[in-house]
Amino acid sequence: MTVCVVGSGGREHALAHVLGRSDDVIVTPGNPGIPHSVATPATELEADLFVVGPEGPLVDGLADRLRAQGKLVFGPGADGARLEGSKAWMKDVLVEAGVPTARHGAFTEAAPALAFLDTLDGLYVVKTDGLAAGKGVIVTTSLAEAGDAVTEFLSGRAFGDAGRTVVIEEGLTGPELSVLAVCDGKRAVALEPAQDFKRALDGDAGANTGGMGAYSPVAAADTDVLGLVMDGAVAPTLAALKARGIDYRGVLYAGLMLTPSGPKVLEYNVRFGDPETQVVLPRMQSDLGALLRAAAAGDMREEPTFGSDAAVTVVVAAEGYPRAPRTGDVIEGLAEARQVEGVTVFCAGVASDGAGRLVTAGGRVLDVTGMGPDLATARSRAYAAVACLRWPGMHVRHDIAAAAADAAVDHGGDGDGRRTPTEYHHEGAN
Ligand code: AMP
Repeated sequence: MTVCVVGSGGREHALAHVLGRSDDVIVTPGNPGIPHSVATPATELEADLFVVGPEGPLVDGLADRLRAQGKLVFGPGADGARLEGSKAWMKDVLVEAGVPTARHGAFTEAAPALAFLDTLDGLYVVKTDGLAAGKGVIVTTSLAEAGDAVTEFLSGRAFGDAGRTVVIEEGLTGPELSVLAVCDGKRAVALEPAQDFKRALDGDAGANTGGMGAYSPVAAADTDVLGLVMDGAVAPTLAALKARGIDYRGVLYAGLMLTPSGPKVLEYNVRFGDPETQVVLPRMQSDLGALLRAAAAGDMREEPTFGSDAAVTVVVAAEGYPRAPRTGDVIEGLAEARQVEGVTVFCAGVASDGAGRLVTAGGRVLDVTGMGPDLATARSRAYAAVACLRWPGMHVRHDIAAAAADAAVDHGGDGDGRRTPTEYHHEGAN
């Protein structure tokens, strides 16, 4: 079949790459580093299946417009995409569904927001209600800084209308985990979990970013944890959406914190994670296109299966990311990087210089995914490929998957305690 992937980043490149194992793929608008990119809008293209990558078009109702044309679409309509488009609405759904999450309040005025901050216990979280490319979140131990963020967000200066409602939460602690579930409106199946790295600098220092790297599998995400997440969060959420008349066909991506009192949902995204996709999908053994087509048709019967290989992706960013990325630099060493064993380089923020060379054109420029029999090998392959790349101010984190790879070596393998791919079977809300 022909699949049309909508979007232009590293996630879409990874989707196209893995779908391309068994399907013909076109990508719109794509980018000059993604094969078969076309400028024609999705609404003017013909394909057997449309897969919408980014949250922006989903929140804007692109999936609805395509469905109205009779097309088969993987991706929620605007009604379901509101889970990501409004954190306040998402929190309402979580509370209604009884899903464990941080205590919170939503505010449009500074005075009650500041009063609510005062009731919290030493770790303060302030978020924009609307979309802010993963950057509208402040986590701080300083009440003053949290208060400043509230005023700044509400003023519209920092994130425009996205910040005119703020969500304030108690701070949670624990390791983070992303679980991506594929939903057909009634039922959800989990993909292999991944862990991402949000902060810009080594040691989880620096600003929050869209993500600087990821790895999969995740030893902490054993069968029990995944079962808790699917039964305690994803299934009740899908049921709550269904009760609201929302037929959710797409990815429900739970961002979780594994707190001492169990997994709690920090947020839902309504699409594949970026860069989690770049480690999860290459590990898939079963046919991605068939799974997404079945979900889009509301009739998913198969469980996805995954190989035992590990994957590590390192995001190669431009100088100044996330605040003000420098663009327009020629990317050197791409061909050499692609020759490293087990490595695939996905193009995220790239443009063409008109002379056949790729130049940097965004904050996150490339995603270098290494695969191997264990995390340590996958990681060293990814970093060996990163070492081939060059442009002025190029920036990577050096510690992606480092602790996990070391822990796996200490424990004699990274498979300890984690589920086998077919072990977990989940029947979602009916
Ligand atoms: P979100 O966009 O809601 O996932 O937030 C982005 C990041 O902020 C998360 O990946 C966490 O690292 C952090 N974060 C969000 N909510 C909380 C919370 N309630 N407590 C602690 N950290 C949080």
